[in-house]
Amino acid sequence: MFIVDAHLDLSMNALEWNRDLTRPIDEIRARERLLTDKPDRGRGTLSFAEMRRGSIELCVATQIARYAAADNPLPGWRSQEQAWAMTQGQLAWYRAMEARGELVQIRDRAALDRHLDARDPSGAADRPIGYILSLEGADSLVTLAHLERAYADGLRAVGPGHYGPGVYAQGTNASGDLGVRGRELLREMERLGMILDATHLCDESFRDALDHFRGAVWASHSNCRALVPHNRQFSDEQIRELIQRGAVIGAAFDAWMLAPAWVRGESTPEAVGVTLETVVDHIDHVCQIAGNARHSMIGSDLDGGFGREQCPADVQTIADLSRLPAILAARGYRDEDVAAIAHGNVVRFLRDSWN
Ligand SMILES: [Zn+2]
Repeated sequence: MFIVDAHLDLSMNALEWNRDLTRPIDEIRARERLLTDKPDRGRGTLSFAEMRRGSIELCVATQIARYAAADNPLPGWRSQEQAWAMTQGQLAWYRAMEARGELVQIRDRAALDRHLDARDPSGAADRPIGYILSLEGADSLVTLAHLERAYADGLRAVGPGHYGPGVYAQGTNASGDLGVRGRELLREMERLGMILDATHLCDESFRDALDHFRGAVWASHSNCRALVPHNRQFSDEQIRELIQRGAVIGAAFDAWMLAPAWVRGESTPEAVGVTLETVVDHIDHVCQIAGNARHSMIGSDLDGGFGREQCPADVQTIADLSRLPAILAARGYRDEDVAAIAHGNVVRFLRDSWN
């Protein structure tokens, strides 16, 4: 079954982790054997071949670059201009992958329909993977004119915040509302017809964003606070509000967001028993709140700063996303609902918002 992954930091892997996703996964891992600069070295799950093997024919792929003010302890660029330049490097990588025939950018309904109509029903996927460009954390937008430029380059979704305090929104582990600049950003996104990604907004910024934005909202990679308590996760009330707004919510695969027993840097997926079943627990929680299966999707975030040491134990590579439909079916989900979660909901959402 064809699968959409609504959150992958592909260009971050290419430029910050120095991973060549055009190479086989074993080779990508092998070349990191001696590296110790990041905790997930040698444990990546992503390559274009693995995406194709898992029938992930469409994804939402990010640009990501934080600006860290002097009082911000998180890693980040010292100026917004540097962050902007980073995203432009990331864009250049996406363009290079388009030139190689690995990726094709999907920026409107016609391109989406073309991409889906060209699917080989037998499941063979030896063709460019469709990607919708998204910005995770908006710090890199030096001015609103930069957003307009980014839109012209195909940017279609923006998550105003990421971790910590941001220029336009307060993110995970931070607090506070959007402020004047954040509200201006949302107005401009609305004018351009861009999607608001509610993932990573802290509770106050979430409230402020939903109050001030009238366009399409999704949450690309967010799990349930009722199952794993943390401000990074959505409360049932927030999930209910997102559903009322027509949102689709992507289930994320980062182990600490899946199982409450996870201790970062200590736990292993095997010891805690985090598996794809645990991912389905979060998908099911959203579906139970909705009363239907129309608001769930997959936003794995695989290799988004973590690898096999911190993802479901039964995920060797991203190709294992293709095992989710059978797990959903075993839980009693009807075929049409399984297809909706695997791809149908996000495709419907995009068609509606690009009308
Ligand atoms: Zn994220």
